[in-house]
Amino acid sequence: MKPWTPFEAERRRMVEIQLRHRGIHDERVLEAMLRVPRHEFVPPEFLERAYEDRPLPIGGAGTISQPYMVAAMTDAAHVEPGDRVLEVGTGSGYQAAVLASLGATVYSLERNAQLADAARARLARLGYGQVEVICADGSQGYALAAPYNSILVTAASPRVPPALLEQLAEGGRLIIPIGDLQVQRLERVEKTASGISTRMLEACQFVPLIGKYGWPEEDFRGR
Ligand code: SAH
Repeated sequence: MKPWTPFEAERRRMVEIQLRHRGIHDERVLEAMLRVPRHEFVPPEFLERAYEDRPLPIGGAGTISQPYMVAAMTDAAHVEPGDRVLEVGTGSGYQAAVLASLGATVYSLERNAQLADAARARLARLGYGQVEVICADGSQGYALAAPYNSILVTAASPRVPPALLEQLAEGGRLIIPIGDLQVQRLERVEKTASGISTRMLEACQFVPLIGKYGWPEEDFRGR
């Protein structure tokens, strides 16, 4: 018999009600969301709220995204086992764990050193050895491990950072919230042999991407 794991019933309910019923149909994505223990990625005071239909604060200026948003971005990225994936905005490490759970090798960039250290330790403890967390300005990407089959930006940007497009493999997908500081629209940018094509997905609200190709560092001192 399969051993009982904590919060399994909550996780199953989250997948059915928040994800499948809202149009996430890729069974591999749903299974990854069922496997990854989201409660391990939230601060202890939010343990009982880990599977609610909302983002939660994680300290610093970060939030762990709403489960639906994590699933929608993962779905749009069409991740295959063996893919190389870049995530910008590690935060808690939850999105990175979901990507790793699909068999990807994940490079995840976080500008806040404290969050990066905590996420790195958490992912190692939970056995996600195929995630590398790097403390850096992710608006410039991570050229060292490029090109990537998918790039997911989990912070809001005023524009598509050119470095990310450069580091995307041909046939690759970039998923990024573009807009102002209040509200954004998720965009799916595909790089093909004949050029770039962009599809608008849903409206969303992310914390700002702060850096060279995001919002200027000077406007967000100490965050
Ligand atoms: N994906 C995360 C949630 C991200 S919240 C999760 O699953 O928990 C957005 C994160 O982006 C914050 O932690 C913030 O510090 C980080 N961030 C903002 N600008 C950044 C930049 N230029 N480079 C890397 N990380 C950045």
